[in-house]
Amino acid sequence: MSEIKTEPWPQEKFNKWYQEHQVIPSRDYVRTLVPRIKALGDRAGFKLEKYGEASYTTCDAVGGSVEKTSRVTHDLYRLLIGDFSQEIPCYIVLGGTHGYEKGGPLAALKFAEEEASQYVDRFNIVIYPCLSPGPYEKELRFTEGRIDINRDAFLDNAQSQEMRALAKSVKELHQRLFNGDPNKKFTAAIDLHETPFMDIAIDKENAAAGGETFELDIFPKGLFLIAFNEDQHLANKIIQNVRLEGHHVVDDDTLYGAPNNDGVLLMSETGPVTGRVRQLLKHFTTASFTTEYCDIDLTDETPDVERVEPQMAAIRGMFP
Ligand SMILES: [Zn+2]
Repeated sequence: MSEIKTEPWPQEKFNKWYQEHQVIPSRDYVRTLVPRIKALGDRAGFKLEKYGEASYTTCDAVGGSVEKTSRVTHDLYRLLIGDFSQEIPCYIVLGGTHGYEKGGPLAALKFAEEEASQYVDRFNIVIYPCLSPGPYEKELRFTEGRIDINRDAFLDNAQSQEMRALAKSVKELHQRLFNGDPNKKFTAAIDLHETPFMDIAIDKENAAAGGETFELDIFPKGLFLIAFNEDQHLANKIIQNVRLEGHHVVDDDTLYGAPNNDGVLLMSETGPVTGRVRQLLKHFTTASFTTEYCDIDLTDETPDVERVEPQMAAIRGMFP
């Protein structure tokens, strides 16, 4: 390994990082995800709510030293499925925390489209299909300013527009359903993530930028779950369901350097992490999980079904 230390990126480079990436047509938020989200809002028993907006700048590629930028504002949506007038258990599914990990939004939407109605007699369900539309449509991990929103999920004073909107939205929903009673909580939340091939390049760029690296010395294969210690029982049930439905659960001895408890990475063993979406949700939920579906061969060319089905199995496993 080289001993030469490079200088971390100057702030200017962080600021321009997002802008210099272009929207990928196959991932266009307004054309590919929004129509599906809106169609769900028209269904009986489904209520679509816009909980915020996120604006993004792109530097259009032009020749020479001329720079032209364009700005787009995307609506942020959540779907409320079920009869929220009753105090029955309420589950939350979130996708698109990391934009490039498209399995989350696709699984959250497919679950809403094909399966959520089966549960509504017994449960209320909230779906946040895509927390970061800008990074989603550019296939990026980070949002504007090269901020990792899954290091920025704080109840107050998040830096990113996406996490400020999410915190406000979950707080408001808790207030609405439980009159702000801190003793009443949503039952569980699951935030859907992937560890794809692109993480190798991101890790290298992080090292150059002077940020955190993932230590992917073994590239895991299959799904695993990150859980708070007190939620281990439900975590085990989710993992069992993933396995029961025929999907691979990561069986390496370690998960990102921490012990692998049969497909579950426990929060007590992750080291002192902050700002994760599962931690933000945990303020309002009894249990809160992060899925990681890992495959070194996972790219945008991978058939959607391969990445969506293991996540769907995890969502199903969360329900009693
Ligand atoms: Zn992720």
